[in-house]
Amino acid sequence: MPYKDPEKKREYNTRRRAKKKESGLCEACGNKNDRSFGTRCVACLNKQKKRDDKRRDSRKEQGRCAHCGNKNDTNKTECKSCTEKKAQRAKELRKERLEKGRCVKCGGFKDTEAHMCSICTEKQVEYNFWHTLV
Ligand SMILES: [Zn+2]
Ligand SMILES: [Zn+2]
Ligand SMILES: [Zn+2]
Repeated sequence: MPYKDPEKKREYNTRRRAKKKESGLCEACGNKNDRSFGTRCVACLNKQKKRDDKRRDSRKEQGRCAHCGNKNDTNKTECKSCTEKKAQRAKELRKERLEKGRCVKCGGFKDTEAHMCSICTEKQVEYNFWHTLV
């Protein structure tokens, strides 16, 4: 990595990912991306989704938090402390990033007029895409 500064490194990564996307390659496997939007090909997305689902399911079955793996004291997928911590951290981060003019989602270099960078906006679209499929 050519940069030592983590901020710069993030910008570099964002740009590098954008470049890969421009070339029409999947960011995960480097093969041709067969989707019209998004940074990963269908096969990689499916793999990732299966892996995530499996881990979540097994923890849920054991009555454990999907995030920390401790005993889950709620009827949701994550325990109370994780839910609270996550919400608090997200709020702080969002505020901090808005002030700095960074992407509110990844904190990286923002190349759009919106609150999120183009990559996160796309990921959001992807997320919605997968969750409406089920
Ligand atoms: Zn791929
Ligand atoms: Zn937890
Ligand atoms: Zn972003």
